[in-house]
Amino acid sequence: MSNDSAVSTLEKITSLIQEYVTPQQYRTWFQTLKISDISDDKICFSVSNDFLKEWICRYYREVLEKAIFSVLGRNAPFSISSESLSSASRDAHNDDSTFSTTTVLSPSSSPDSLPPSPHLNNKTRLSTKSDITLNPKYLFNNFIVGRGNELAYAASLAVADAPSRAYNPLFIHGSVGLGKTHLLQAICHERLQQDPHVKILYLSCETFINQFISSIEKGNIRHFRDKYRHNDILLIDDIYLIANKERTQEEFFHTFNALYNAGKQIVLSSDSPPSEIPTLEDRLVSRFKMGLVAQIDTPNFETRYAILRAKARAIGHKLPDDVLNYLAESIDTNIRELEGGITKVVGLSVLTKSPLTLSLAHTAMRDVNNKPRTYITIDDIVRAVTTKFTVKLSDLQSKKRTHSIALPRQVCMYIAKKETTLSLKEIGGYFGGRDHTTVIYAHDKIAKEMEKNENISRIINDILNHLHA
Ligand code: ADP
Ligand code: MG
Repeated sequence: MSNDSAVSTLEKITSLIQEYVTPQQYRTWFQTLKISDISDDKICFSVSNDFLKEWICRYYREVLEKAIFSVLGRNAPFSISSESLSSASRDAHNDDSTFSTTTVLSPSSSPDSLPPSPHLNNKTRLSTKSDITLNPKYLFNNFIVGRGNELAYAASLAVADAPSRAYNPLFIHGSVGLGKTHLLQAICHERLQQDPHVKILYLSCETFINQFISSIEKGNIRHFRDKYRHNDILLIDDIYLIANKERTQEEFFHTFNALYNAGKQIVLSSDSPPSEIPTLEDRLVSRFKMGLVAQIDTPNFETRYAILRAKARAIGHKLPDDVLNYLAESIDTNIRELEGGITKVVGLSVLTKSPLTLSLAHTAMRDVNNKPRTYITIDDIVRAVTTKFTVKLSDLQSKKRTHSIALPRQVCMYIAKKETTLSLKEIGGYFGGRDHTTVIYAHDKIAKEMEKNENISRIINDILNHLHA
């Protein structure tokens, strides 16, 4: 096949991949995808590094198969190689990433399903001689991977598997309760499991600051430096606390350089990206950006649901679907809150010896908050809109496109996009399996309509007021 046709095949394949995965997943995994060779019976892809190759092989093989099938109209074997490998090792690696694409995609392998954690083994963790205190629960195998944390998770795993080779430094940022500490400690557990003699230092930034100050007071700064600079891996949690601490920043800068130059791994976590930490010296900002900066976003509905289910199981309870749905819809802030939700619901059930039902969950959440729920669910929206427009839900979910049905359907989509945390795909799916572009279109159309049509604007505001009442 000619070079031109390889380029056009690649374009078609990558544009399909973009339909199957989220923009973040695409940017993270597929941005460097190229076709290095293509013949009638095989496609050879390449990506920029080994890690991307492994990850795509492990989790996105079916996405590639599906895209190839759509573009070529048939299954074709393919391989993925990494550009960063030497040619000898590339040859050696080629075999294990070559697939025969006779697999038929099953619905469970849809690109939207979350990648399973590769560390599902239940090895007992080694106790360690290292002088660090870790939470035994913060492991990779109970970290639920979803769209918001996929990159941070994958990078942490890579660092644990191959410190100082994958990313250095690894800088993970995200708001409170989203799993930064969990990941940092999971790296420690995993590394100690693989190499019990590794010298790891994990600590909060506060401890770092306090120990620095006390070493100055006691005049034993040399001891402080030795302690920090003789490690294979240094992980500092919540490094943003170093803002405004000029002398500590200075000391940390030197610690960073000493470790980095000696080829040691550094992992940092923060509530914001390096450049947004106030009063952080430029030279530190640029150091922090040298490796990989991975953001953790708030989890979407599916991830919240999966986390709730896993956490409930971990404490020996199986929550019914409607309770999981309710909690996943109503708690959308962070994972610590999700854990709190489970504790409340399970706690009330145990206390009152009542079964875990939806109404018990309502009571648990209401009692603790001491106020009625203020979040809005898709059912609330549909109920309010169908009442106002006197249409049936089945009509909204049908293929009918007459104005009397299309308008309330669009209103539902508009409100759902505005007021719930459901993804566009979920909203579209609820209304008869429509896709995300339909939801965007509906949202924009109603927003414009509200600007020029007072009547519509009043109706929608009534509905919103009713929902918030
Ligand atoms: P942060 O350090 O970002 O404030 P933590 O790591 O302390 O957040 O996480 C808060 C709680 O949520 C912890 O109990 C942690 O185990 C849990 N948690 C966070 N992310 C996940 C996840 N993806 N899967 C399972 N549990 C998680
Ligand atoms: Mg933390």
